[in-house]
Amino acid sequence: MSINVTRSSMPPLEEYITEIRDLWDSHWLTNMGVKHKQLQSDLKKYLGVENIDLLTNGHMALELSMQALGLKGEVITTPFTFASTTHAIVRNGLEPVFCDIDPIDFTIDTDKIESLITDKTCAIVPVHVYGNVCHVEKIEQIAKKYSLKVIYDAAHTFGETVGGKGIGSFGDVSCFSFHATKVFNSIEGGAVCFKGKEFGEEIYRLKNFGIRGPEIVDGVGANAKMNEFCAAMGICNLRHVDEEIAKRKLVVERYREHLENVDGLQLNPIQKNVLSNYAYFPVVFEEKVFGASRNEVMDMLSNNGIGARKYFYPLTNTFDCFHGKFDSNLTPVALHISKRVLTLPLYADLSLEDVDRICDLIIKCKR
Ligand SMILES: *Cc1c(COP(=O)(O)O)cnc(C)c1O
Repeated sequence: MSINVTRSSMPPLEEYITEIRDLWDSHWLTNMGVKHKQLQSDLKKYLGVENIDLLTNGHMALELSMQALGLKGEVITTPFTFASTTHAIVRNGLEPVFCDIDPIDFTIDTDKIESLITDKTCAIVPVHVYGNVCHVEKIEQIAKKYSLKVIYDAAHTFGETVGGKGIGSFGDVSCFSFHATKVFNSIEGGAVCFKGKEFGEEIYRLKNFGIRGPEIVDGVGANAKMNEFCAAMGICNLRHVDEEIAKRKLVVERYREHLENVDGLQLNPIQKNVLSNYAYFPVVFEEKVFGASRNEVMDMLSNNGIGARKYFYPLTNTFDCFHGKFDSNLTPVALHISKRVLTLPLYADLSLEDVDRICDLIIKCKR
């Protein structure tokens, strides 16, 4: 049987059916119904945040947050991320300015941010890559010093805490994704966690076409409302998410046991003070030491029915849609990592025997 890089979490079918049954009484399928309200309040508690609003997906969370903050000019971000982060910036008419990443935890290198700040810079958009928490305190200091907004791409950090504090409480806004492939899913879905009431009103208006009242449309909004079926899926999955994370932890620990001391392999760091959600298991293959390249390992796994993924390759600053506008040589660490990284299969029900087999196959590639 083949193994995919991930497998979506689903509640027992009966549980979901029970959850959606009352929708057949109300006939209220979207536009902030009872399921939307319940998931919102459940998540507020679970994530330990002051304010939260739900959206159709993580991408719209990013895109509408930037619009809600009224950003103009340049935004400092990293190219070592999913297309969504950079696209949200560009689709807002903003100019992405790419900062390199930390070679250990792959998040934005805070020592390199200040030299990229100009009089046009309005915000920093850091990414908590693989669930690795950015250097939040340093970022806050820089943002304060230069009066910049901070929007975290928190798509990978569902449920994580730093020093006991919910990851969604850092920066001006944190954007979560509840896509089917993430640690917690509502099929498609997303959320913004934020500080002020004003931002809350703005995002609520923008996710509903910019409509303020029955006869007042005073914003050029989008349609990014989470529907009741997605919210119901989220309500069910949230009941099981702790159990799922505990199972992911066992898988990650098994991977570490096998791969931790193999020369030429760099594993994801264990961050002090951070309660991890075990979202991804990236491995950086240093060919000169390990003896086989990332691509060779990926092909070998693929020939054995095992799907590993090159997250994140290519870098967003090399995408065809940008027609060579950006120079990836200016982010050499990100470029180096993206050419060598492979994320291995990881989901709650991946058996430890399968992890053993995957690791055996990888270690056999060593020369
Ligand atoms: C998944 C993801 C997104 C986008 O989320 P969607 O819910 O799929 O729109 C944004 N950024 C990162 C880093 C992601 O992994």
